Amino acid sequence: MTTNYIAGAWIDGLGGELISLNPSDIREVVGAYHQAGASDATDAVAAAHAVFASWASSPIQQRFDVLDAAGNEILARVSEIGHLIAREEGKTLPDGIAEAKRTAAIFKFHAGEALRLSGEAVTSTRPGVEVEVRREALGVVALITPWNFPMAIPAWKIAPAIAAGCTIVFKPASYVPACAIELARILERAGLPAGVLNLVVGSGSKIGDVLVSDKRVAGISFTGSVGVGRSLAVGCAARGARVQLEMGGKNPLVILDDADIDRAVQISADGAFFQAGQRCTASSRFIVTRGIHDRFVEALQKRMRQLTVDHALKEGTHIGPVVDGRALRDILGHVDAGRAEGAELVEGGDRLNRETPGHYMAPTLFVGTKPEMGINKEEIFGPVASIQRAEDYEEALAMSNDTQFGLSAGICTTSLKYARDFRRRSETGLVMVNLPTAGLDYHVPFGGRKASNYGPREQGSYAREFFTIVKTAYIDPM
Ligand code: NAP
Repeated sequence: MTTNYIAGAWIDGLGGELISLNPSDIREVVGAYHQAGASDATDAVAAAHAVFASWASSPIQQRFDVLDAAGNEILARVSEIGHLIAREEGKTLPDGIAEAKRTAAIFKFHAGEALRLSGEAVTSTRPGVEVEVRREALGVVALITPWNFPMAIPAWKIAPAIAAGCTIVFKPASYVPACAIELARILERAGLPAGVLNLVVGSGSKIGDVLVSDKRVAGISFTGSVGVGRSLAVGCAARGARVQLEMGGKNPLVILDDADIDRAVQISADGAFFQAGQRCTASSRFIVTRGIHDRFVEALQKRMRQLTVDHALKEGTHIGPVVDGRALRDILGHVDAGRAEGAELVEGGDRLNRETPGHYMAPTLFVGTKPEMGINKEEIFGPVASIQRAEDYEEALAMSNDTQFGLSAGICTTSLKYARDFRRRSETGLVMVNLPTAGLDYHVPFGGRKASNYGPREQGSYAREFFTIVKTAYIDPM
C-alpha cells in the first residue's frame, strides 16, 4: 500500500516495511506499508515549506470549505471509519464510531475557526496612531501523535493548523498507519492543496530527529509519553522552535462518603477500564474515604465481573484488547510489581484467551495500596486501577495531588462545598465532578499541568495559541 503523502503525491517510503495487525485477532493483517525514512521526512518538510507562503495567505473561505468538506465526508462514513478505528486500534465498534463522529465535529468546528481568526483594533496611547493586533500563521508545523485516538488526536492538531494557515508534516504512531492514511486521503478529497499536509508514516526515533533539527519546522505539537515529549522539547528549545506537549497521566478519582454509590461505581468502571484503560485521562487511582470504602470496593468488583472483554467488533464487547503484545507485557509487568510491593490484587491481573488470538487483559483492581507504591506513581496505560483509603476529604485531596502528573482529576460527591473546593485546589488541567475523568468536549480547551503538559492548550478556540503568532502593528497614517 502506498503509504506516505508528500507534495500531493502518494509514495512508498525508504524506511522499510511496516505490518499492522488487528489486536483483536493477530492473524489478520490490517495493512502492509513502506515506511518513510529520514530523507522522506526531509522531503516532507521541504514540501510544506514550499507552499507555506501561499497557504498562509489563502482565503479563509477556502480553508473553511476544505475543513467542512472533510467533516462532511467523515460524517457520511462514520460506521466504516469507526470500523477501521476498531480494527486497527482495538477499541470497541461503538467507541470507534464515537471517535469518527468526534473527528468530524472537530473538523467542522475548526472550519468555523478559520472564519473567526480575527484581530483587534486598539486605541493607542499616542494621538493619531492606530494599533492593530493580528494573528499570523506560525509556519511549517510537525504534528506527532499517539495511537490511542488514531483519528481524533491527529484531527485536533491538523484542523486548527489548517485553519490558521500553517502547513504540516504529520507523523502518526506506527501502530495506526491505516487511520492516518485514511485521514490524509479525506483531506486530499476535500480539496486541500498539495503540500499543505504531508504524511510520513515511520519510526519516531528515526524521523523525530529530522523534524526537531530542520530549521524550516517552526513548531512541534506532540502527544505521547513524557520521555519522548521532553526530549523533543530540549531539541526544539535549542534552536528556538515552538513546542506543545500533551503527555501522560495518573488520574485520581476521589469518592467521598456522601457519593451516590451506584453513580460512583459506573463512573469508576467507565473511567478506568473502558477502552482497556488506554486513555491519557483514564482513572487509575481511586481514593475512597473510610465510610464508603468497603461498600464501594464490593460494588466495583461486582461491576467489573459484568464487563465483557472480547473482540472489538463483537456485539456486546465492553472492552477490546490492548493495542499490542509488547504493551500487554508491559502492563502485566506493572501488575507483578504491584503484587511484589504489597498491594492486594482483588480482580483480574491476567491476560485472557478468547476465540480469536488477541491481546486481551482482564480489568484489574488492587486494594490496600499506599501513595508511595509504584502502581500509584507510574502511568500503566492499561485496564489497571488501584484503591487508596483516605480518612477524610482533606487527606483524599492531598493524595489526589500527590503525583508528578496533572492531567485530569475527578470527585464523586453530593456536597457542593467539596465539589467547589476540589475544583479550585486540584492541581490538574481538567476537573470532573460526578463524571468520569475521561470523556471531553471538543469545543473547549484541553490539557494538563505538571509533567502532563508543556506549552499552550489544545482544542477549542485556544488551539490557535500554538498555531499563530500575534503581531502588534502601530500605524501613523500621517
Ligand atoms: P509515545 O511512545 O511517546 O509515542 C507518541 C508518538 O511519538 C508516536 O508517533 C511515536 O512514533 C513518536 N515517537 C517515538 N519516539 C520518538 C522520537 N524519538 N522522536 C519523535 N517522535 C517519536 O506514546 P504512545 O505509546 O504512542 O502513547 C501513549 C502515551 O501517550 C501515554 O503516555 C499517554 O498518556 C499519552 N497520551 C497523552 C494524551 C494527552 O493528550 N495528554 C493523549 C493520548 C495519549 P512511533 O509510534 O513510531 O514510535
